[in-house]
Amino acid sequence: MARPVYSSFLQPATYPSGCGRREFPDDHVAPARCAGVLKADAYGLDAAKIAPLLHREGCRTFFVAQLCEAFDIRDAVGADSDILILNSLDPDDEARCAKGGFIPELNSRAQVERWRRQARANGEPLPAALQVDSGMSRLCLDSPAVASLAGDPDSSREISLRLIMTHLACADQMDHAANDMQLGRFRSDCLLFPNVPASIVNSGGVFLSRDYHLDLARAGISLFGASAGAHAGRLRPVLRLDARILQIREIGAGTGVGYDLDYVAPVARRIATIGVGYGDGWPRSLGGVGAACFDGHRLPVVGRVSMDSLTIDISGLPAHALHEGDLVELLGPSQSLAEVVPDAGTISYEILTRLGVRHQRICADGDRIVASVAGRRQ
Ligand SMILES: *Cc1c(COP(=O)(O)O)cnc(C)c1O
Repeated sequence: MARPVYSSFLQPATYPSGCGRREFPDDHVAPARCAGVLKADAYGLDAAKIAPLLHREGCRTFFVAQLCEAFDIRDAVGADSDILILNSLDPDDEARCAKGGFIPELNSRAQVERWRRQARANGEPLPAALQVDSGMSRLCLDSPAVASLAGDPDSSREISLRLIMTHLACADQMDHAANDMQLGRFRSDCLLFPNVPASIVNSGGVFLSRDYHLDLARAGISLFGASAGAHAGRLRPVLRLDARILQIREIGAGTGVGYDLDYVAPVARRIATIGVGYGDGWPRSLGGVGAACFDGHRLPVVGRVSMDSLTIDISGLPAHALHEGDLVELLGPSQSLAEVVPDAGTISYEILTRLGVRHQRICADGDRIVASVAGRRQ
């Protein structure tokens, strides 16, 4: 039975400075705090399993995108943690959110009004965060709405403001002028709320400079040792994706392999079919250009990536190095996410969030397995 193994080795020393084993945030952003962003099921890795590990490391602020994701991790993070909802709430979800004890980001005047109405109904102020526009124009309150909230003496009786935040459009580009421009605009909005903690950086922004750390960093992809753009390679990768060999075939010169016989062996070859395909989130664009790895050897993908399998050329290995049932590495110490990304024509975020439900997910702390979630096919 094919059983791809996905292992997320979640260790805190994923920032370039390294960090204290028991400390989260680590010294790279201290004295700022570091929040864990666990949206999209922790980037496809299983939020409910990863959240308690972060909590154990000292993380007490978690971000998700949707209300349902907040419920997914609520029991895992303990009552001493805050869970913020980046996309805020659909109309009529306010009561459920308030009852769950979650903190919505308020991204529009309508959301502010609905949350204030809920607070009046509850008869007490409700916690909220403001996501303000600093130049990205994605999901945020514009400046006049921010100013009118700041100038409204009644608002503090209804909203207990826990965070003011914004998001950088170009955090992965060290020298992009938009970064300083956004920081400047954000700082002036923060002056309206002098006692409220502020946050601007995601993983990439952490590397820009200390000026950007403010009170809280929001680390998502860097928790898994991956990063994008100029910062790629600055973190220690902690992910592995292994795939099982389903079959090994000796083929003669002139034999075609896979859909459309896209690959035709120029000479006799040994081909292994492995049990991961685009249905498991492995990009179809890696057909003919990607590779798997084994024992320091690069094993090129030959032919198309199928839905449930792909084929690799293992002729470069000694004849009995690999057998059916063995595992080869798709991501890990021999091939990082950052190395796969250019050929895949996408970004590391997309590869992670597409890893499907058929992978077994193993969460390990060093060599110790702390959580394992069986893949769908078992
Ligand atoms: C996704 C997201 C983050 C985390 O981004 P990473 O690049 O994964 O660290 C932080 N803030 C907001 C608003 C986001 O949408």
